[in-house]
Amino acid sequence: MTTILDGKKIANEIQSEIAKEVEEIKQDGKKIPHLAAILVGDNGASQTYVNNKIKACKKVGFEYTLLQYPESIREEKLLANVDRINEDEDIDGLIVQLPLPDHISGVKVTEHISSAKDVDGFTNVNYGRITSKKPGLMPATPFGIQELLNRYEIDIKGKHCVIVGNSRNVGAPMSTIMSYHENATVTVCHIHTQDLALFTRQADILIVATGQPGLITADMVKEGVVVVDVGITRIPADNPRGYMLKGDVEFETVKFKASYITPVPGGVGPMTIASLLLNTLKATRARH
Ligand code: NAD
Repeated sequence: MTTILDGKKIANEIQSEIAKEVEEIKQDGKKIPHLAAILVGDNGASQTYVNNKIKACKKVGFEYTLLQYPESIREEKLLANVDRINEDEDIDGLIVQLPLPDHISGVKVTEHISSAKDVDGFTNVNYGRITSKKPGLMPATPFGIQELLNRYEIDIKGKHCVIVGNSRNVGAPMSTIMSYHENATVTVCHIHTQDLALFTRQADILIVATGQPGLITADMVKEGVVVVDVGITRIPADNPRGYMLKGDVEFETVKFKASYITPVPGGVGPMTIASLLLNTLKATRARH
């Protein structure tokens, strides 16, 4: 039987836990967590992601500030705004929604965020701290996946975890978390991997983050595999929105072989937002 790894449900549970904690913070007269989000330009997907994050802040009782700038904003001006938030005593967490326009370096802007407020866990400092037994602010998506697997009490220790994708924000930190913190045996595949299926078929746990819709098909996995699909791609569709969301895994066929599988949407996405809230709470506690 296949169990759906219901990220939406677990994220809701985490949000309820956080909301309870915020109530206690209020009663104790302590600092309420405050998240600031920077959105540049009018990319529809980015707007949706930021709106979902703001909605989650409202739901748990965090304070939030949304700063929107036009596509044409110069890099120096954006960096100056990041500096201003870094220095703002009232703001505990800052996210800059990626991607940024071509004339702005996403790496430079991300690195500019104070590591104490980097609740996406994207800066080099927080990336490096995953290799400590006391990590700082965890990279949000890998942290959300770890939490999802743990809350479903999935056995990770000693299992073969195959990760497809070695990006800086997902695949690479995920591999460190699974090997160093969870004691899995980890294989990392990517665009240059020869014979991808040779590796994916060996996976007890398969985590896919490529942005290639439907890349993983049923013939590429073994019976009983745990599948985590990180990919979210907008595919043109004949519906009022004009698109549908598709993952990197061919859900309809792979689900018959998997013991556990995440849906898209409703799997990893809500867990990333839950991680962001957990990191903001942690950043607030550390600063106050
Ligand atoms: P990225 O473009 O930075 O990296 C893609 C990775 O996939 C690279 O390591 C590349 O080598 C690998 N890859 C690409 N094509 C491949 C192929 N044919 N075979 C094997 N490997 C291949 O992307 P990213 O930021 O890591 O994001 C990946 C996907 O996850 C995207 O769809 C993104 O939207 C999604 N994402 C979702 C969340 C969430 O919260 N659900 C968060 C972050 C990213």
